[in-house]
Amino acid sequence: MINESIHDREHPIAIGENIWWVGSPLQDDSFQCHTYLIENGHDSILIDPGSMITFASMVRKVEEVIPLAQIRWIICQHQDPDITACLPALDRMITRADAVILTHWRAIALLKHYDIKLPFQCIEKMGWRLETGRGQISFVFTPYLHFPGAFCTFDHRTGILFSSDLFGGFTERWQLFAQDESYFEAMRPFHEHYMPSQTILFDGLLKLSPLPIRMIAPQHGSIIPEHLVRFMIEHLKELDCGLFSLAQSSTDIQRLSRLNLLLRKFFKDLVFVREFRSVLETLAQLAGQLLPLARMDICWALDDNEFLVWSQEHHYQRRQEPLPADVVELFAQGEEISDWSVRGVYLCVLGEESQPALVLHLRDSESGGVRGLAMFRLLRPVVLATEEARILSQMGEALSVSAMREILHHQLEGERQRYYERSIRDPLTNLYTRFYLRESAARLFEMQDRDPRTQLSVAMFDLDFFKSVNDTYGHGAGDEVLRALGRILLSETRTLDIPVRVGGEEFVLLMVGSGVQESLDVAERIRVRVAELALPGVLAGRAFTISAGVSLRHPKESLEAAMEKADAALYRAKQGGRNRVLLATD
Ligand code: GH3
Ligand code: MG
Ligand code: MG
Repeated sequence: MINESIHDREHPIAIGENIWWVGSPLQDDSFQCHTYLIENGHDSILIDPGSMITFASMVRKVEEVIPLAQIRWIICQHQDPDITACLPALDRMITRADAVILTHWRAIALLKHYDIKLPFQCIEKMGWRLETGRGQISFVFTPYLHFPGAFCTFDHRTGILFSSDLFGGFTERWQLFAQDESYFEAMRPFHEHYMPSQTILFDGLLKLSPLPIRMIAPQHGSIIPEHLVRFMIEHLKELDCGLFSLAQSSTDIQRLSRLNLLLRKFFKDLVFVREFRSVLETLAQLAGQLLPLARMDICWALDDNEFLVWSQEHHYQRRQEPLPADVVELFAQGEEISDWSVRGVYLCVLGEESQPALVLHLRDSESGGVRGLAMFRLLRPVVLATEEARILSQMGEALSVSAMREILHHQLEGERQRYYERSIRDPLTNLYTRFYLRESAARLFEMQDRDPRTQLSVAMFDLDFFKSVNDTYGHGAGDEVLRALGRILLSETRTLDIPVRVGGEEFVLLMVGSGVQESLDVAERIRVRVAELALPGVLAGRAFTISAGVSLRHPKESLEAAMEKADAALYRAKQGGRNRVLLATD
């Protein structure tokens, strides 16, 4: 950390070996301009001499270090008045014959209009370098940052880079040295505003990358000390520039810069964050920085007058629920909103308390119609600038895409769930299917294989003489019996157990946590319930019986093996006279 208090800004300040800051702070101006002096005996160098506003104090500070007559080279990194307007005055004071102004040819074409006596020397013709006797000075061409012929000057001896507008900043409370990483925020609007595009900025930074830069002395803002040099360069590389070409009416660059940052954060989230919930959380956060936000809610109309809602109170978990009447009305209004700021963005009042709200339309990406709303309920009314509305509208467009993706996901999820339900439930008896038995057996068997104390058993049931039921009363009556058996199996088993219809009138019960006796008891209970079954209609008075075989599943045993054992016991039960439960022998 560089201690500001040690600097007396009324005098030149040494920022490196024989390098002096000879600028003058401007009162109440966020746009500070610096002049630097490289003290080098009779071959001293003045960089960006400055404007007439600061001329007298600049000359006074230079003369505290060296007589003006020792200045031989005057470098102008570009042509703007804030760094060259004092040239005619300086011209009158510097009389030595070998003094020259060093600059780029495009700047020479402009600066010659000052009609000064000092000769110009073109840095291209010097091979972009100057031999000074104290080491080499290189000129790095950084075109279009911001003037076509702008360049930077690098002093190899100290590692100080004098930059033209590049690395400049707008500062509210100016300090000679940037204190920490937060200084980047002073550079952000400056670059987004001054530099035409990220490509051009990146290219300029690339040209600087071979240099061992140890300090950056920019023309505006604060000097960047060594520990912040890398950070600032890396972060500038990612900065979007050319903000004015994005904005259409506003020229408030500070605000545009802030909006631009929000928008980019939001888009980044849309791309990288998969969960819609998290996207909404970020959106609410960003909107909170832009608006006096009370709460944000999103809703989307499904086909059948149903709505999906993501609300702050439910942490943006998707819910299907009815909407308040005034919101439904907003939907009904659709595009017929009169007081537009920008298409798809408007202010209105909502709720019984007539709370001001900002509404964004969310559109179906195929039809373009309004399908959803993003509602930002506000703590107080706001006036929305066109630029803000435009940015919100862009957010709305992006949010629409994200919402559509979420809806699609929701539909697929529902579809998948229904399909799965169908595949695991037998429609006649509502018992599980063979498919589900396989799936859950795999899971349970793995548990038992890991921990043999887990008890698993299989009971197989088969209705006795069922063929005759069909033959006597018809297939419909037979189905009635199967349904009744389904009800018995479901009511006589515990939630963990898995009752399955494996075939026509064959059933399996996979029991969890039951030993031999318990399993036999369950099967016996079922046998008794079937024997007691009294069905109405054509089946009234008819009795039914069922036979069962029970086996214990041993660790590592397959489902087929366990079922075969139970089936063998079932076969014996049939042979032994039916209407009974037998235990399998291993
Ligand atoms: P057993 O005591 O030896 O088991 O005699 P059973 O008549 O029950 O034996 P079998 O396996 O020969 O007959 C099974 C009958 O189950 C044949 C078929 O008509 C009937 N069945 C199979 N699936 C259905 C169904 O979905 N609905 C109806 N109503 N009957 C079915
Ligand atoms: Mg059978
Ligand atoms: Mg049978």
